[in-house]
Amino acid sequence: MPSKSRGPTATYVTPGDRLGSSAKYTPTDGAYTRGDAVYAAVAGALAATPTTVGVRRVHPPPPPPPAAPPASAGAPPPPAPAATAPPVGLPAPGAAVTCRVVRLTGKAAALVVLAADGVPTAGDYRGLLRSVDVRSTDVDAVEMGEVCVPGDILLAGVVGVGDRGGVLVSLLGEDRGVVAATCGGGDGGELVPVGWGEMVCPRCGRREKRKVARVSR
Ligand SMILES: [Zn+2]
Repeated sequence: MPSKSRGPTATYVTPGDRLGSSAKYTPTDGAYTRGDAVYAAVAGALAATPTTVGVRRVHPPPPPPPAAPPASAGAPPPPAPAATAPPVGLPAPGAAVTCRVVRLTGKAAALVVLAADGVPTAGDYRGLLRSVDVRSTDVDAVEMGEVCVPGDILLAGVVGVGDRGGVLVSLLGEDRGVVAATCGGGDGGELVPVGWGEMVCPRCGRREKRKVARVSR
């Protein structure tokens, strides 16, 4: 059984699920806006209010940090120790993972894995996307900056284990690639796909290259 929730029933969603119209809802934790809709970035229970929608993780093994006390409290509580999950449960090859791009190097992108096969990861699993795993043809010509940039959310497939204990991922396949990205012009616009290789900012019209994932439904 899923963990108890406040609502009468919990609606379970997975990354990429459409949660509602962006005209009606503002995304909160675990959700992002793409075009005119809000989508789940992680798996979990749908958490909606009349104006916001997000995803609440349903199997968080570490307890959440205590809520900040009112201003009347004296000294702040000691910080909770960082939850350092052991490196177990790494996504296996073949798993579909949702990742955030942390930084680009010349021939790779460093990632943080957010969810694997629709289940949020409990720790900060690292991922690495190498340029040779972006596409199957003309791999030598791949420019990582035209695939993804830091801050993007990717859907990727696990292809192996990296040197430093993270996973190696691939973007092979049209359903793999960037699912959420923000305008590099600094206006906060959520980029909208205008093809498999390009996205556009609805606010300023700036066009940016990405490997765009086809999101079904
Ligand atoms: Zn823009």
